[in-house]
Amino acid sequence: MTTVNFRFYAELNDLLPDRKLFSDQMIEFNGRQTVKHLIESQGIPHTEVDLILADSRSVGFDYIPQEGELISVYPVFESFDISLVNLLRPTPLREPKFVLDGHLGRLASYLRMLGFDSSYRNDFNDEELAEISVNEKRILLTRDRGLLKRDKVTHGFLIKTRDPRQQLLSVVRRFDLAKLIHPFTRCIACNGILEPVEKEEVIDLLEPKTRKYFDIFKRCTSCGKVFWAGSHHERMSRLIDWVINETPIS
Ligand SMILES: [Zn+2]
Repeated sequence: MTTVNFRFYAELNDLLPDRKLFSDQMIEFNGRQTVKHLIESQGIPHTEVDLILADSRSVGFDYIPQEGELISVYPVFESFDISLVNLLRPTPLREPKFVLDGHLGRLASYLRMLGFDSSYRNDFNDEELAEISVNEKRILLTRDRGLLKRDKVTHGFLIKTRDPRQQLLSVVRRFDLAKLIHPFTRCIACNGILEPVEKEEVIDLLEPKTRKYFDIFKRCTSCGKVFWAGSHHERMSRLIDWVINETPIS
């Protein structure tokens, strides 16, 4: 029997059952167990973890904890610079791209509205979501903790709230997206890129009022949908202002 103490930091504590909050966890096990397995046995998906210290030494997921060690487990520091210590994850994603599970349709539209490449279909199954995340190097956003526990998934983020605005805020904060926002550059419907288009080119597609009151248009290069700065646009601008105001500047 081996006995090891685990200490979980910051938001990793949110994932632990209440009784374990803010205290070291003494874990006993038989045989050789990887630190990855022991962390996941506490209910924490490995994708949430970015740094593990065994008695102050940075170790990888395959490390076998030794009797009496203190294992410190830190959450993903996507938004912080910890380049001086060993990252556990493979190469960090340079430009954040996302794939979202079927429960996160509204969040997908919001992210597209802010200009982030967000793959979403309400009928992707778990296997497809994991495949897309790995093959297209997309961060998997999901409400399903089990999905993030799949070995294949290396970049993921657990969405903890049901409120789409709060979901958006948590993603922007977590991945430090505030400086990367390019509003109205991506199609909310299909994730395609928007390009400016002359009014004459799309005039036949417009309702009479739109034709009368608006002069600046963008068109999706994938699905052809036309966008203009109408009332919808104002609501979206307010949402973007809110997100930026709520995000601390780093
Ligand atoms: Zn489109």
